[in-house]
Amino acid sequence: MKSVGHLINGAVRHSGDRHLDITNPSTGKIDGKVSLASAEVTTEAIAAAQAVFPEWRATPPARRAQIMFRFKALLESHTDELAALIGSEHGKISHDAAGEVGRGIENVEFACFAPELLKGEYSRNVGPEIDSWSEFQPLGVVAGITPFNFPVMVPLWMYPLAIACGNTFVLKPSEKDPSAAVRVAELAQEAGLPPGVLNVVNGDKEAVDVLLSDPRIQAVSFVGSTPVAESVYRTATANGKRCQALGGAKNHAIVMPDADIDNTVQSLMGAAFGSSGERCMAVSVVVAIGDETADALIEAFRAEMVKLKVGSFDNANNDFGPLISDEHRDRVVSLINSAEKAGASIIVDGRKPELAAGDDGFFVGGTLIDHVKSTMACYQQEIFGPVLSVVRVANLDEAMSLVDDHEYGNGSCLFTRDGEAARYFSDHVKAGMVGINVPLPVPVSYHSFGGWKRSLFGDLSAYGPDGVRFYTRRKTITQRWPSATLREESNFSFPSS
Ligand code: NAD
Repeated sequence: MKSVGHLINGAVRHSGDRHLDITNPSTGKIDGKVSLASAEVTTEAIAAAQAVFPEWRATPPARRAQIMFRFKALLESHTDELAALIGSEHGKISHDAAGEVGRGIENVEFACFAPELLKGEYSRNVGPEIDSWSEFQPLGVVAGITPFNFPVMVPLWMYPLAIACGNTFVLKPSEKDPSAAVRVAELAQEAGLPPGVLNVVNGDKEAVDVLLSDPRIQAVSFVGSTPVAESVYRTATANGKRCQALGGAKNHAIVMPDADIDNTVQSLMGAAFGSSGERCMAVSVVVAIGDETADALIEAFRAEMVKLKVGSFDNANNDFGPLISDEHRDRVVSLINSAEKAGASIIVDGRKPELAAGDDGFFVGGTLIDHVKSTMACYQQEIFGPVLSVVRVANLDEAMSLVDDHEYGNGSCLFTRDGEAARYFSDHVKAGMVGINVPLPVPVSYHSFGGWKRSLFGDLSAYGPDGVRFYTRRKTITQRWPSATLREESNFSFPSS
């Protein structure tokens, strides 16, 4: 049985008597436990980060970047190990887990640009013998609180950039699959991070409450469900902290009558069912324009879904694995039941999937529901399971009002051959990340990731250019070294150039 602790001031620590079981969702069996940090342990991690901040802030950005280069190389050489760790606690299939690590590495690559990103802005002679420049200074100690569904990638959205910008960091990963985050932090340490620059506390609300209230924490990056995101945002900002809190989603794919149906369905299969639909950018609603489009989509999905294989994370032939917990499986099944009861048609039913011997975990097979209405719970709620709803509408405006009226606004995509419709859609749709014939428009690391409406609380998105802004504070310096020849009399009017 493994025992997962914290990483504080460069050393792995196990704390106190509060623990949580770690379950392998593919087998349903407990195979370890994780320490849950008390308020005291969390405070210790903050103190370690605070103590090393002056030294880290003074470390030249190019030297911080060199550590990021070594970290990237270590992540690459440990990808298989990390993918197996992710799989055994989250359930995603190895190829999907390796893809997650790869997308995380891209954020480390972006952090390697720190010297360039922190160059600032300079203006010479803004007045007689006066120069002015803006520089981007680190904030101090920053906290990150992350969800279960990307245990490696989402922490890597945060701390490589925060640290490369000169901050020190306390990460609180999800308690449901904690091992990978600790292992990745060990690799960061091995790459050369001084002890205390990156600390990991495993835990629950007790640790989070400390991170949101301790005055030494300057900023909080949160990713998780919307109710928790909203509460974290309100508490952190009420306590005077900078906060970005990314929440849940309901991502719509709109299919126009002119779309190439086979290509569209091929693209949407992975977006809807990959990682069991436990992705904040998963497509969970297809909006078909016209009954003819809907009927063609249903037939094409039915043909593809017959081939879907659900099963254990360590069988690379499976398309997707289990859900994270028994409780979550029950919730997903109950949302399918509620759709059926409300009059929708279950076209492909994954409630009792065919499984290989030994796959005794929390499985739901791919499910396709037709004739879903916007009043149904399965439409309104984020299901976070391998369940795709089809809503039928008459035209693009009706389809776009569905997206616009939904409480979430993470991603939305359009499948069409019509450039004018695509331009109109990307111009007007109320979602933060838009795809045109691209089902999962997850921005690359040198753009930024963020939804609209109740998918993001705060002004700045995650990683990329917004990440640099979030993890730094602008300071503008105006400087004069007067020469002996240029003397001024006292002047009491407002300075002008
Ligand atoms: P969650 O909100 O349950 O947990 C997220 C984090 O918050 C965890 O570290 C958890 O320990 C902590 N937490 C949970 N309840 C808390 C409470 N009451 N007080 C303080 N902290 C608390 O989310 P989850 O189930 O781990 O992750 C799935 C959710 O995350 C989905 O809604 C998904 O859409 C969302 N998500 C969003 C994005 C995005 O970029 N918008 C990315 C990934 C996941």
